[in-house]
This record gives sequence, structure tokens and C-alpha cells, in this order.
Amino acid sequence: MRIAVASGKGGTGKTTIATSLALSLTGGSSAPPPIFVDCDVEAPNAHIFLKPRLVQSRPVGIMIPVVDERRCTYCGKCAEVCAYHAIAVLGKKTLVFPQLCHGCGSCTALCPEGAISESSGAIGVIERGPALQGIDFLRGVLNIGQPMAVPIIRELQRQIEPLPGQVVILDAPPGTSCPVVATMRGADYLLLVTEPTPFGLHDLKLAAQVAAEIGLPAGVIVNRGDGPFPYIDQFCASAGLPILMRIPFKRKTAEGIAQGKNLVEIHPEYTAAFRSLFQQIAENNK
Ligand code: SF4
Ligand code: SF4
Repeated sequence: MRIAVASGKGGTGKTTIATSLALSLTGGSSAPPPIFVDCDVEAPNAHIFLKPRLVQSRPVGIMIPVVDERRCTYCGKCAEVCAYHAIAVLGKKTLVFPQLCHGCGSCTALCPEGAISESSGAIGVIERGPALQGIDFLRGVLNIGQPMAVPIIRELQRQIEPLPGQVVILDAPPGTSCPVVATMRGADYLLLVTEPTPFGLHDLKLAAQVAAEIGLPAGVIVNRGDGPFPYIDQFCASAGLPILMRIPFKRKTAEGIAQGKNLVEIHPEYTAAFRSLFQQIAENNK
């Protein structure tokens, strides 16, 4: 089973919860430890909690068009087909803007003169290695200044080859943009982490809307959930989203997390709570 952990906004404790869930699913059953995938490729930070030894690293690139001016007739077909405005024909010049190119290959395929070839442009790396308690840890790291997170997330998804019974946990980036959708598309279930504030509710609604649009079943964890904030409960009830766990705010939790400790390390009783949450998800989504 593949579970994505997302939140419409940053700072909800999403990564703390995703990593705590992963640690809770090690031991206690015959299933292999989970695969944990940090899809927040612009600012990966799950390694702080899971402490992997990143023994593998390989670059990820996209294919950038290269125009042969000797064959180009400046017909403009490549610019017409490019949805990202990454190629333009200006008089007797055809220009490629690599920072805008998504490497889709459409211009190469449709150039009537065969004037476009492609060369690989590096956008980041994928790293992998064993983490705490045998977790198979994978993460993508986008090069600084690169805007293309999605190709790295897609490549991460391709690298996931779970063993029978092995759970995959995908830690999504914050927000509701393309990288989040790319992460959700690889999941069977979505855990939405929110906090009981008006901002939390606002962004929870957006994230729930994305999940509904792609038909992904979802449930909610309310973090720092001391409340009272009945609007979260009312929204979840109206949207058919079960609230699976409430984690109250505690000073000890905040202090521990600031020191790079995990929730289950600070409060070991959460191990059983996360296992039970996983069982509930697995039972209800067979
Ligand atoms: S489609 Fe090919 S021939 Fe036409 S402008 Fe683009 S590169 Fe040149
Ligand atoms: S590869 Fe795709 S995104 Fe890049 S310039 Fe060509 S059509 Fe545009």
C-alpha cells in the first residue's frame, strides 16, 4: 500500500507525522520495513528524522531541445506546440529557453525538418540508502534555481519497487501545485495533516479538493489539535473525510522536534497509535 502524507500548507508537522508513521511500521509484523520517499524535492528534510546513510546517488535530467539552424526553416511549428513557451522563433532565429522547458519532446517530434535534437540537462539528483530501523529511504533533491520539481518526483516514483507487503510512504511537498499532484498520483491513500487554525482549515480545503479531483481516498490528522476549532470537524464531516488522529500540542513535543527527534521517539506511545491508524486505513481501503 502507498500512503501519501500531504498538507495544503507548510509547517503543519507533515514530515514529523510521515516519518513517525514509517518508524511505527518497522517491527511488530512480518512485513519488511517501509520505503520512505521524500518528495519535497525543493526542500527535503525527512532525513533529519530518519537519519539515512545515502549510499546511492544518481543525477536526474530532462531532454532539452537543440536546434540545428542549418536545417531550420523558421516555420514556427515548435513554438506553436510548446505549452510552456520554452521555444520561440524570432525572425531568422529559433531560441530555446532551457529554464522553461519541461522536456516533453513535442517540439522534436513535430519539427517537419528534423532540425531539433536533444541533449540532457541535469535538474537534480535522486539519493537512496538505509535509514533508522531498516527503512529504505529515497529522496530527490532539485538543483538550486531549477523550477522543474515534477520530473524528479516522477523519477522517484519509478524507483519504488516494493516487496510483497511492504508499505510505501510518500512525503509530499507543501501546497497544492503540480509537485503535490505528482506525489498524490502515486498513492493509494492520502493522509492530510492540518492544524486547528483558520489557515489550516483554508489549506485543508484546497488539499482535499485536489484529492477529490484525482479520486484519492483521504483521511485527516489534526496536529497540535488542542482546539477548540469545530470548523475543522464540520468541514471534514461535510467532505466525508474521517479524522483519524488528533495530536495535542505539548511543549515536550516541540522541544524534541526542534532537536531532530521523532514523535515516536519523544512519545513512544504513538507507535501503537500509528500502527492502529495504518490498520484502519488498510482495512477500509482493500
Ligand atoms: S519546427 Fe523545426 S523548422 Fe520549424 S522553426 Fe522549429 S526548429 Fe525550425
Ligand atoms: S521539449 Fe517540450 S517543453 Fe521543451 S521546448 Fe520542446 S515542446 Fe517546449
